[in-house]
Amino acid sequence: MEAATGKTILIVEDEHDVLDLLALNLRKAGFTITTATDGAVGLRRARTENPAFIILDLMLPKMPGLEICKILKSDPATRHIPILMLTAKAEEIDRIVGLEFGADDYVTKPFSPREVVLRIRAILRRSERKPDEEHLSAGPIVIDPARHEVSVDGKRVNLTSLEFKLLRTLMQRRGRVQERDRLLNEVWGYESIIDTRTVDTHVRRLRKKLGKAANMIESVRGFGYRVREN
Ligand code: CA
Repeated sequence: MEAATGKTILIVEDEHDVLDLLALNLRKAGFTITTATDGAVGLRRARTENPAFIILDLMLPKMPGLEICKILKSDPATRHIPILMLTAKAEEIDRIVGLEFGADDYVTKPFSPREVVLRIRAILRRSERKPDEEHLSAGPIVIDPARHEVSVDGKRVNLTSLEFKLLRTLMQRRGRVQERDRLLNEVWGYESIIDTRTVDTHVRRLRKKLGKAANMIESVRGFGYRVREN
């Protein structure tokens, strides 16, 4: 059997027989298990114990699974933790909402423990890929970070390494405004001793090279720049 390297999985489930079944099978598969039988404790454990994975039941005392999922996936400190939701057959709508809130997968009760172990391994493998190597896209712009390549509508665009870094930083934080100071710090590596207009100059050049995709980078007056959400 594939080694699971003792990763910790948090199981949040109020039905003890389901909890025991999962805990038993996951321990057998080499995982370390921590548990919670209500939503409030589950959320606290997720935040304090930093598990590698969370199995989250939908219907829980004190706080519903959906609420926990939403909170964890909107918090930068926990959003990377994959979540597998457990749902009953009748909870189809909740399941869909859960995926919208960022749950990684779901399993419908009754389930085969073996199936759950396989799914968890697949999700963990997927999430272990370094974010640096994943393609980023926004509208017609696609970045292949591993190859340092940028394309607009499939056509290569040649950027300097600085322009590349600037675009990648903006795209990694798509939808969020990046202040000039912060960009200088992260892209150029300067504390803000250099004139922040340097950023404006480079954004102007970058937009020019992006051609028709130039409008994907928005100026937010008085703050900085962001890559549009759509
Ligand atoms: Ca339940």
